[in-house]
Amino acid sequence: MSVNYLRISVTDRCNLRCIYCHPLGGCDFIEHKEILRFEEIHRIVRLFVGCGIRKVRLTGGEPLVRKNIVHLVRELADIAGIEELALTTNGVLLEPIAAELKDAGLQRVNISVDSAERESYKHITGFDLLPKVTKGIYKAIEVGLTPIKLNTVVIRDVNVLQIPALAQMSLYLSVAVRFIECCPTSKHIKLASAHVPNSEVRRIIERRFGPLSPVLVRDTDGPALYFRLKNSAGTIGFISSRSSIFCQKCNRLRLTSDGKVSPCLYSAHHYDVKKLIRAGAGDQAVLDFLKKILHEKSRYTKLNSPAQEFSMQKIGG
Ligand code: SAM
Repeated sequence: MSVNYLRISVTDRCNLRCIYCHPLGGCDFIEHKEILRFEEIHRIVRLFVGCGIRKVRLTGGEPLVRKNIVHLVRELADIAGIEELALTTNGVLLEPIAAELKDAGLQRVNISVDSAERESYKHITGFDLLPKVTKGIYKAIEVGLTPIKLNTVVIRDVNVLQIPALAQMSLYLSVAVRFIECCPTSKHIKLASAHVPNSEVRRIIERRFGPLSPVLVRDTDGPALYFRLKNSAGTIGFISSRSSIFCQKCNRLRLTSDGKVSPCLYSAHHYDVKKLIRAGAGDQAVLDFLKKILHEKSRYTKLNSPAQEFSMQKIGG
């Protein structure tokens, strides 16, 4: 599998406190001076494009809390060779800047929404902000940040009852509603019991709405399988990261907000590209370093068990 996809966490800060993502007791936030500056991100991306990266996704923390994010989008969109520039957001701050993001060159957004009901959304995220997210979704559709994917992490005893209402959104909105199996990250969720296999999610949807038919989608994001309910405007996707391992199909690298490249979500191994850059390395030296990472990545052909607890909020999902 050729590695052509880079996910960049532009900040470790988030405006939500989702129970499955935010470590209990809070995070030790990265010091401001350790966060990659825009010109550093731009340089790393430009050099990565020289190694075959064609798709870039901005994530976080919450990418829309990073000051001047529109400026970063505009700068990255100008790099020749990037075929797809996308962003993953919780949608809370999206509505007012969706048009600007589109104008700056952002092609599409994924929006995380773990509930279709206000109280339960508040329970999961810590904030009563579902109406803002809904506005963000409609605005993203209106300005054409499409195709839009809505991501739901399913957790037992938390949002299983929300599955039908979320799936129903695919009937009337031209979006992909995707159900993601919760990854084991930190210990605060009792993950063994929290895990809901996507086979169960599918059963719940089919019992309520009838059979799902498979859809062939060209999806460079990789691991999702897509289906459609009868007469629906959108699709339903399943990302079954726990019940089926897809290392062989993994085409992505991750760049953390403090400048470390990680070849695998489940490995503690990372490469400090910021250190190299701040030590004054020239383009060729950085390029050689990035090529080494890509070579290393090609050796990750099976799942490494989580080497340590990690925070999805820090690495960007
Ligand atoms: N703040 C943005 C958002 O909410 O989409 C971007 C960062 S968030 C870490 C990126 C993605 O990771 C979201 O879709 C989120 O649902 C997912 N995520 C976070 N923790 C997860 C977990 N334990 N298992 C599976 N997905 C997770």
